[in-house]
Amino acid sequence: MTHRKLLQTAAALAADYLDSLPTRAVAPTVAALDSLRALDRPFPERPTDPLAVLRELDARGSPATIASAGGRFFGFVVGGSLPAAVAANVLAAAWDQNAGITVLAPGAAAFEAVALRWLLEALHLPPQAAGGFVTGATMANFTCLAAARYALLERSGWDVEADGLFGAPPLTVVVGDEVHVSVVKALGLLGLGRSRVVRVPTDGQGRMRADRLPPLDSRTIVCIQAGNVNTGACDPVGEVSRAAHESGAWLHVDGAFGLWAGAAPARAPLVAGVEDADSWALDAHKWLNVPYDSGVALCRDAAALWRSMAPGPAAYLVHGSTREPDDYTPELSRRARGVEIWAALASLGRTGLADLVERCCRHAACFAAGLDAAGYEVLNDVTLNQVLVSFGDDAKTRRVIEGIQADGTCWCGGTVWHGRAAMRISVSSWATTEDDVERSLAAMIRVARAVA
Ligand SMILES: *Cc1c(COP(=O)(O)O)cnc(C)c1O
Repeated sequence: MTHRKLLQTAAALAADYLDSLPTRAVAPTVAALDSLRALDRPFPERPTDPLAVLRELDARGSPATIASAGGRFFGFVVGGSLPAAVAANVLAAAWDQNAGITVLAPGAAAFEAVALRWLLEALHLPPQAAGGFVTGATMANFTCLAAARYALLERSGWDVEADGLFGAPPLTVVVGDEVHVSVVKALGLLGLGRSRVVRVPTDGQGRMRADRLPPLDSRTIVCIQAGNVNTGACDPVGEVSRAAHESGAWLHVDGAFGLWAGAAPARAPLVAGVEDADSWALDAHKWLNVPYDSGVALCRDAAALWRSMAPGPAAYLVHGSTREPDDYTPELSRRARGVEIWAALASLGRTGLADLVERCCRHAACFAAGLDAAGYEVLNDVTLNQVLVSFGDDAKTRRVIEGIQADGTCWCGGTVWHGRAAMRISVSSWATTEDDVERSLAAMIRVARAVA
């Protein structure tokens, strides 16, 4: 079996899969899920031809997917994958580079460095910021908060990387009451405690109330959010960053998807001021629409990120004079994520990226207007890409969500918003067209009326 035949078959199957999405139900059928049971067989004694392996993967795996790569998946906050990014992923898989170290992957390191510079430019963040290419916003939050922990303790005369947290001066962490669970998890991993955080009350859109901030000092990390996972709202950056910087606190932004608003001129005011923060967690697999898994940790103080992440001396780790990718991430060996980010940004350009973000926001506004006109209650101010809708009482809303998922035209998830059950629509994919929005809206209204 030659590489060529196998990879051409894989590419053809992948293209067939993507071509099937416009007409396929978004959720897999019961038969598709049943077929997965055949996988439960003993570890084979002998080799199988790779082409046969690939064919089984396609026959059983492709139908058992959620069609989140298509234009009618609106669950969680999940982007599709841009054509250039999927293609880059395929090529980079063939390269099989260990992108952690420049001597092992000079090309990947160069693409990554350029991707970092372009990202900072696209989002109007400080050009001198350092960045690490990690698995997603959870690890981006972890990485940024490790840098914050290092920097604040270093200013207090304590080297946390060398001496750990036992006996260290205490740090305070302030978060909004609707902080993403991944920030809280990262704080736990860092020894800063999941429950030790000070929670600031939030307003009707889930934004931290700046007037309720506790006193801050130079041993406080303040975590704000750009893009509430329910409403899409951004915390009041200006007020919080003034308070943080007057007191010497560290300001971290969890901007997994919301930071991308900065790339679209009409939406950028929603996140104005984020550039004044000290660190930023960003997802690329959400709104930049690159394949999983891909996030970026960005830190104004490059030295703090480097001091908290660089692996330290090892005789066999040959480091040159250029930026070493593994000096900025928890991982040592890893895949070449920066290549896909580079490909996505290169294919979009500034106008294409702005258009991707803006289009998703416009689609979200169409959903909100259409559902409102049909008599259903939109619960949030739809300023970004997120819509929360109630179809009546909680039980009815839950039945409608189940009905919509079973109908298969589109897929939306449920949430509880300020005590009420709601359906959450997140428009985060380049692949969503106006026709997708119309078809999905019609299906939502049809199912909701049938449930009534
Ligand atoms: C999605 C999300 C995260 C977690 O990101 P992962 O990529 O799933 O690790 C963190 N914060 C916010 C605001 C998010 O939307």
